[in-house]
Formats: sequence, C-alpha cells, structure tokens
Amino acid sequence: MSTVVAEIIEFIREPKIAYFSMEIGILNDIHTYSGGLGVLAGDTIRSAADLKLPMVAVTLISRMGYFEQDIDEKGSQTERPAPWEPSKFMILLPQKVYVQLEGREVAIQAWLYVQRSVTGGSVPILFLDTDIEENTKEDRELTHYLYGGDERYRLKQEAILGFGGVRMLHELGFEIKKYHMNEGHASLLTIELLHEYKRDIEEVWDEDLIWDVPRVRDLCVFTTHTPVEAGHDKFSYDLVKEVLGEILPMHILKKLGGEDRLNMTLLGLNLSEYVNGVAKKHRDVSKTMFPGYEISAITNGVHSYTWTCDSMKRLYDRYLPGWANEPEVFVRVGRIPDEELWEAHMEAKRKLIDFINAETGVGMEYDVLTIGFARRATAYKRAYLLFKDIERLERIGKGKIQIVYAGKAHPKDGPGKETIRYVFKCIEKLKEKIKCVYLKNYDMRMALLLVSGVDVWLNTPQRPREASGTSGMKAAHNGVLNFSVLDGWWIEGHIEGFTGWAIGPPPTETTLVEADDTHDAEDLYNKLENIIIPTYYGNRDVWIRMMQNAIGKNAYYFNSHRMMRRYVTEAYIR
Ligand SMILES: *Cc1c(COP(=O)(O)O)cnc(C)c1O
Repeated sequence: MSTVVAEIIEFIREPKIAYFSMEIGILNDIHTYSGGLGVLAGDTIRSAADLKLPMVAVTLISRMGYFEQDIDEKGSQTERPAPWEPSKFMILLPQKVYVQLEGREVAIQAWLYVQRSVTGGSVPILFLDTDIEENTKEDRELTHYLYGGDERYRLKQEAILGFGGVRMLHELGFEIKKYHMNEGHASLLTIELLHEYKRDIEEVWDEDLIWDVPRVRDLCVFTTHTPVEAGHDKFSYDLVKEVLGEILPMHILKKLGGEDRLNMTLLGLNLSEYVNGVAKKHRDVSKTMFPGYEISAITNGVHSYTWTCDSMKRLYDRYLPGWANEPEVFVRVGRIPDEELWEAHMEAKRKLIDFINAETGVGMEYDVLTIGFARRATAYKRAYLLFKDIERLERIGKGKIQIVYAGKAHPKDGPGKETIRYVFKCIEKLKEKIKCVYLKNYDMRMALLLVSGVDVWLNTPQRPREASGTSGMKAAHNGVLNFSVLDGWWIEGHIEGFTGWAIGPPPTETTLVEADDTHDAEDLYNKLENIIIPTYYGNRDVWIRMMQNAIGKNAYYFNSHRMMRRYVTEAYIR
C-alpha cells in the first residue's frame, strides 16, 4: 500500500463532519484567506483537532494566495499575486473527480494537509486543485485566485467547492454525517446531495418528490456571516445554465434558491436543518432579512492558543495551567499578580513598537498609550471615524497617544481603497503632534503582534454590519482592552468600564440605518479624553483590573473551544 493511501486511511475509520469553507487561514504562510471568515475557519479546525472532533475540512487551494499589498506614499494600494508552493506543506492525493463546467469535464485533485493537535486529535483538510495537466489553461486557473475574477469565475469556483468537494470526499472513502457550510460559497453541495439521495420515480407519486429535500436537510448545517443583503452571492439563472447546465429542473431550483436569481444563502437556508448567525444580534438581523426561517445563534470565538502572544502564554502556563485546551480556566485570572500581568503586556508591547519602528522609522515609544485598528479595509468598518474631527483628536491626544493602522482592501473595493488613502492623509496632518502609522500586508502574524502589543483595540463599524468581529476577542486574550461600537460580539462581551468601553448608543436596529458618524465620533472623543487617557496614565490599578476582566470574562467565553462545543451539541448532534 502506498504511503499516500495510508495517510487517508487514518481518517476514514469514523464518520465525519465535513466543514466546507471557500477560505481557510490555517498557517500564515498558507495565505488562502482574506480576513475574518478564513481565520474563523482556521480556528474552527484548530479547536476541532484539539477537542478530537471527527471532522474533515474542504476548501480551494488558491495557489496565488490572496495578494501582496503595496501602498505608495499617498496611500494608494496596488496588489501583486502571492504564489505559494503547496508541496512544501501538503501532499497531492492521486484520486481525481470531475465537475462539468460550460460542458467541459474539469478534473479536480486534492492536496491533503493535516492539522494535528498536541492532544492527539487531528483534522485533515482537502485543498481542491484544478491546476493539473489534463485541464485547459483557463480551467487550470480556476483554483488560483481567492475571490478573484468575475461572476462566472466565482460560480465555477463554487461549483468546484460544492460539487467537487462532495465528490472528492466520496472518492476518498469518507462517510459523512453532517455537511457544515461556512457561508453561502459552499451551498452548491446541497444540490450534489439532492442527486445522491434522489428517489426512484416508482417510490413517489409526484415527479417533484424524487428530490428528497427532507433527507438532505437532515444532513446540512448552514452558517451565515453576512448581515447585509448585497453581501450574499447571487447568480443569474442564465449564467447558472450556461456554466453548470441543468443541475435541477428549473422550477425546483427556483423554489430552493430564489425566483429571480440563484441566491446561495437561500439555497443553504432551504436545505439545512440547522442554520445559525455568528452572534445574537446577527441572528436577529438575519431573521429580519430572511423572515420565516428558524435561525439560531452561535457566537464566534477565537482559538486561544493561536491568539495568545508568547509572554502571556508563559504567564498563563504558570498561573492557569491547562488554559489552552480548557479556556474556562481563565475564570481564575485573578490569581495572576498585577505586576506580572503588566510586565507580560509590556513585553508584547515592546515587541510591537520595535517592529513598527523598524518598519517605518516613526519612533514610537513604549510608555505612550497605543491604539490599534486593523481589519479588512472596507467602507463599513469606518477606519476614518477616529479622524472625524482631527483638530480635536490632536488636542486630546498630543503627546499622550500613538496609533497603528493596518488592513488590505479587496482589489475591486474602490471605497475600501479610498479609506486607506484618507487614513494616509490624516496621518500626514497629524505628523507633528501624534505618531500614527499604517502598516502594509496585514496578515495573521501581524494580527497577533497588534492585538497583543497595543493597549486599546479600536473598532468602529457601521451598525449592524459587523456580524461578529473576532479581532477584539483576540485582543481580550492578551489583556488588551476593547473600545468599540456596540455591534456583533461586543454587544455580548461589553460591560462598560469593566471589560472595555462602548462607542455610541446601545444597539437597537436590525436593518441598515444611516450611520451617525457625528454622534459616534463625539462619544469616541469624550471617552478617550475623559476616561481612557486619564485611566491609563493616572490609575494603572484600574487599568490592570480591566485587563483581568477582559481575560476572565471575554477570553473565558469568546473562544473557539466553547464555540465548537456548541456546534457539536446544537448543530452536529441533533
Ligand atoms: C482576526 C483577523 C481578521 C478578522 O478581524 P475582524 O475584527 O473580525 O475584522 C481579519 N484578518 C486577519 C488577518 C485576522 O487575523
């Protein structure tokens, strides 16, 4: 028996939960992720391995990575492909499956990566690849670019993931108990399953009933991540027909995926027994968007071990042994002496400041209150809010704060790119008074440096667009305090002046309303001036107490071990 087959045999002994995601952030050097969705998928898999859950994950290889970000002195972003070499990290399995696209049979192979935990658990990840010799040049590029190309390219990618993924699992001998779709990109897998469980016409009295919807629903779990209508993938039925052919009788497909266009979220909703949003508020928003559907909430979490910096890890190992595989242990955070908590934080902060100074030469200082803002650069995140009244910011913060920004804009996100240019302009204006930098090429490695090395983690999304947000949870794991608009997870994690601070009014809306930038900015400046800066410089004891609360209350709960236990009991075992 070849070693390749042996590799797979290890995993097919027991039935599995198949976790499908267009992007997975499993290692920083495998940059097949663009942001929160992919990092969450990585954390899901890391926790599943730690908890020894029977899981197999499926994604695309995205050989060109997301992209390498260049920013010129004016703040204009340009992108370069960031190719990586799969054979350095994983092995190519010999099995092949085929998906029909535009009438051509496109061959797919899978690379096997294994996420192994120190607990002995492991989760195989299949990275699907069409870049193989027998395919045409065009088809070979279908698994090159994450979220690249046009609609047609995207639809083909989703067919490779959904149809190809299910076929590959079967070809390899996996027995699947549940299919978990991480967002609508994987929804086509439901159609593959409808074909697999198709009933004989003799069994049923109506031709439509050969499609065993209840049976497929029983097998499927769907997680939505998008609280705005425009964010859901939709494809015209003409395009669907051209690219995929007649995947189902049109009247059935329209019943399941929407009358006017094939809506991947609707398809997922209609064919999944269990559907969830990624925070309680996001569930409410989703219910408003899709009335009549039962939607639950499992609030996201982050992988504690991955998102804790070295100095904090040492501290937790000493005072809270077992924390990594049982984050509930954070409840005993009060056992860590104040001075040691502060020193561990300062070690992380020095590391960040040294990095920033080496990259930019800006000359940031260890003892100045440092505010961090890093996430995908896209309009709703409102990176500009901190600069709403730049004279006021100068007055409040001169000599007292320094600010670090980072984030990539999607190559086609014009307003997102404009945000970066705007931040650059503001940095230039502030130059003499407040040190402020924008770091390029935000990725998982830089994210850990930032969420552990700043003092305050700022988040200013336009409500209710932040489905959950996870970087603030990473900050909490490092005793870094959140200062954020009440949206997503922070509605659940926030206790004013205790775990961090809110920006703006309490959340009430479940649909999009015009953002009140002025009101939010006013609140931001008031708290920064009257509470945050004075506490940081004048009341270190209170600050350290808040750091403890961030760990003992936020990290305690907002971790992916808790999240996965809930997926198991609420979604996978029903
Ligand atoms: C955690 C993470 C995100 C998600 O952060 P949000 O606050 O949810 O936007 C995005 N990108 C990277 C690289 C991350 O590590």
